[in-house]
Formats: sequence, structure tokens, C-alpha cells
Amino acid sequence: MPMKVIKSALETSTYVANMRASGQKIGFVPTLGGLHKGHQLLMQRAREENDVVVISIFLNPMQFRKKQFIEYPSDFEQDKTIARKTDVDLIFHPSIDEMFPFVKRIDDFFRFQNDEFRMRDNKRFVVEPKDKNGIDNLIRVPSTLVEQLDGKLHPWCFDGSATIVYKLFQILQPNRAYFGEKDIQQLAILWKMAETYFPSLKVVGVPALREADGLAFSSRNALLSDEQRQIALNVHSALRHGERLIRRGEFEAFLVLSAIKEIIKVQSFVNIDYIDIVDKKSLKPVSQISGGIILYVAFFINGIRLIDTLIVD
Ligand code: AMP
Repeated sequence: MPMKVIKSALETSTYVANMRASGQKIGFVPTLGGLHKGHQLLMQRAREENDVVVISIFLNPMQFRKKQFIEYPSDFEQDKTIARKTDVDLIFHPSIDEMFPFVKRIDDFFRFQNDEFRMRDNKRFVVEPKDKNGIDNLIRVPSTLVEQLDGKLHPWCFDGSATIVYKLFQILQPNRAYFGEKDIQQLAILWKMAETYFPSLKVVGVPALREADGLAFSSRNALLSDEQRQIALNVHSALRHGERLIRRGEFEAFLVLSAIKEIIKVQSFVNIDYIDIVDKKSLKPVSQISGGIILYVAFFINGIRLIDTLIVD
């Protein structure tokens, strides 16, 4: 069937409900747009495992600082071409008003990031009916899940992705939803959120797709010059070096970390924002390496923030 593009939440919800009523399984891939081969891998997986493939393209202002939001590289016409080629059945492409009807100005989204998170609970997800900026059904992620890795620096970013995914799940009620292991903390949080609020929905994690040179496909790669890209690759090689040390039997996390940092430090123009070795399941930092772990680094190259991760089982 020809690919459909729908902007209205109600129309999308009705369309998908009809499919579901006729016994078809719905596979869903949420995206911010700027589609690339990494997204396509998720769509292909959804195609293999479901009857209907729905993607959403929505640049969610809750997940960004204002500057990043404005500069995010995306081209809807190109996204449509990629989605069509990947055999997607429906693109849900709502406006900001459609998803957040009570927020008056775009700047209100960026104000929400400065909140004190009074509503955050240690263990449980909390749904805030409407925050003071007009964001309805705001999901506060439990502190145990956000106070690690990137969440330490910007917990609001994960409240932002949980909120939008919660809204999208409500509209679409898919059978399965696909997320990249590249954004491992987001995956861990959404997996838990789905378990809490959408128990019959299966969250599927898909390994990161990398280019031939090892850099993970990312919409933000488009912002990198050739030179910056080479630097990002060198950071990735440093993680690979860490992986080799572990495979050769090094189990002291601090030794692996300092070896990685030494390599990264010699690169000019790179600032490490955060680096750690964490347990694959709990995302908690480990001191002794055993079982599955994640090498995790967040870094800046001339103000562009990138994350690279390597899962070592
Ligand atoms: P985004 O539009 O960046 O939010 O990405 C949408 C989904 O695609 C997320 O679940 C990402 O983790 C996933 N994704 C992004 N890049 C890749 C990649 N290189 N390989 C696999 N999945 C990816």
C-alpha cells in the first residue's frame, strides 16, 4: 500500500486502531527526523516482525537546549523518501501544537529544563498532569534511572523523551516499539516505562549500526566537518582499545578508563564531558569488570556534543 503521512493524532489513532482491529500487528519506530541508515535498520526490523510499520517524525523540543533544537539537521522531504524506500506504511508527523496543546510559546519548553524536579520519585515514574509551562502528562523518570550517565547532567532530557514516547504510545498503541542500543540509557528508561504503563507492548533494542570506519550513524554527524569526524573516530578507537584490554583480561575499570582517557587526551579540540564503565543492565558504574558492561563516553568537539558507547559482553 502507498505510504501515508498523517499529522493529526486523532486520525492516526483511528487509522492504526482499524489495522489492529483487523488482527494486524503494529511495529513502531519513534524518531526525531533527519533519517539515516541507523533509523532504517530499526524500520527494517519492524518490517520483519510486524504487519504494519509506523514511524513518527517529531523534533521534540523537550529533549533539547534551544540552540541544539534550532540547529537540528532534518529535511522532511528527504525523510519521506527514505521511509518510502524502507517500506514504511505510515509516518505520523505531528506539529508541536498537536503534541503539546497547552504550551503557549516555544521558549516554555526550554524553561522546563530549569525546574527543580520536585515531582521526581526515587523508584517510580510520576505522571505530572500539567506542569507550569503547560506540558501535559509530563513523565518524571525515577531518580535511580536518571542519576547515572548522561542523566546526571541533564535529567530533563530523559523526562522529555519519556513524555513524548508515552504520548506516542497512547496514540498508536503499537504491539512492538524499536529503539537503538546506541542511546542505551534512553532504551533502559523506556523499557521500564513501557513495563509500567504499557505492559502488553514489547520494547525491542537494536544494536547500533556503524559506518565502515566505525562511527555510529547519527543525525548529528551532518554537523561535523571532515576533521571533526576524524576526531570522533579517534575517540571511538580509544574505546576499542579499552575493549581490547578487557578482552585480554583486564578487569580493573579504573585502569581501562585511564588508558582510554590517555588516548583521548592527546586529541586537540576534544573535551570529555563524562566517561565511565557501567553495568549493562543496571547502568551503574562498576569498579571490577565482569559480565556485560558498557564503555560510555560523552564528549565535545568544538561545542558539538557526541556520545559513543561500546557494549562488551
Ligand atoms: P533519534 O531520531 O536520534 O531519536 O533516533 C531514533 C531511534 O533510532 C533511537 O531509538 C535511536 O537510538 C536509533 N538510532 C539512532 N542512530 C542509530 C544507529 N546508528 N544504529 C541504530 N539505531 C540508531
